[in-house]
Amino acid sequence: MRLTGIETIIPGDGSPLPEIVFVRVHTDQGIVGHGETYYTPRAVAAYIHEFLAPKILTLGSASPEAVWELGYRTASRFGGRGLELRALSAIDVALWDALAVSVGLPLHVVLGGPSVDRVPVYNTCAGPSYGKSWKIGGGATGAGRFEDYDAFLQRPGELARELVAEGFAGMKIWPFDRFAHRAGAQHIAPEDLRAGLEPFEKIREAVGSQIEIMAEGHGLWSLPAAKKIARALEPFQPAWIEDLIVADNPDALAELKRSTTIPLLVSEYLMSRFEYSPIIERGIADQVMIDPTWCGGITESRRIVALADAKRLPVTFHDCTGPFTLLAGVHLGFSSPNASYQEVVRAYLSEVYPQFVDDLPKPGRGAYVPPTRPGLGAVLQTDVVDRPGVEVQLTGKR
Ligand SMILES: [Mg+2]
Repeated sequence: MRLTGIETIIPGDGSPLPEIVFVRVHTDQGIVGHGETYYTPRAVAAYIHEFLAPKILTLGSASPEAVWELGYRTASRFGGRGLELRALSAIDVALWDALAVSVGLPLHVVLGGPSVDRVPVYNTCAGPSYGKSWKIGGGATGAGRFEDYDAFLQRPGELARELVAEGFAGMKIWPFDRFAHRAGAQHIAPEDLRAGLEPFEKIREAVGSQIEIMAEGHGLWSLPAAKKIARALEPFQPAWIEDLIVADNPDALAELKRSTTIPLLVSEYLMSRFEYSPIIERGIADQVMIDPTWCGGITESRRIVALADAKRLPVTFHDCTGPFTLLAGVHLGFSSPNASYQEVVRAYLSEVYPQFVDDLPKPGRGAYVPPTRPGLGAVLQTDVVDRPGVEVQLTGKR
């Protein structure tokens, strides 16, 4: 199978996924693979069409490993671990999808799975318009069916009972973010700390230990403030603390880990095995979070999974972004012996992703079972490219 074209599709500002760029790879067998990456979609598309696609297409090969190596080595001479790696991630996921479709097998089977018969899910408590109006330190409110951001702040006990009844293994909340703009997030005031703890208290009051609570910080805080938050959270025994500080300094993360009994998750903000490696090797993470459409695609995610497994660390797959990111994570989960969770946003599963893809496996009672359709198991709905405001660009040919 040879690669003939690389296409980008940006749903656009008026769509429910304004920050997504979908990528389709076209092959000489007529097989089309799907991928995507999240945020700055036009910059990603420009990089793909001006720089990456023309180089990759000269290879002719649709081999994910060959394309990855060329794409990474070319970009790494100029830094290459930000937007460049996200662009390569989207193409890599699409190439793996095409490969699996070409042999008629679900992607996780091509990757050697299933190694587990279920991958548990937790609900990230965002509403359906979270991706649309996401901003640092905030949530997004709207009038959708699952306004879980409003719910975890205003009626956390009720939300927890609902999620337990639906079978979710965990719920992720970020009640401290609201206060991070004060004092530049350098310290947290006692009243803000108390207010941030309230949802944790109410959840434990309502459902006890029937659900795990994940504490998210979106990289907003200084190290001293993060240590204070972590210490205050200890009585509620969250499953982990996540990105209370930006994950760019292994020593700072190590100090945060030493300061608390709560397990430390690190982090979908890391790009490529070269950033994960020191964190894993030095024993700084208790749990490794991977975003397959940021860190380098399926190809690079597998290497990070193996690094983590060598240290007996569980891995969780990030999704708060788009349907192909979710599907990539689900398939990686089933091919990873150390998979612990797939992150989902139930509002996206029910209200947003079905507007774009033809099928979406839904988790059953708190867990996914192995998907059975070939490849990632979904394609873009045929009319997506014709919708108003959608931007389509192709290098090469279909
Ligand atoms: Mg996160």
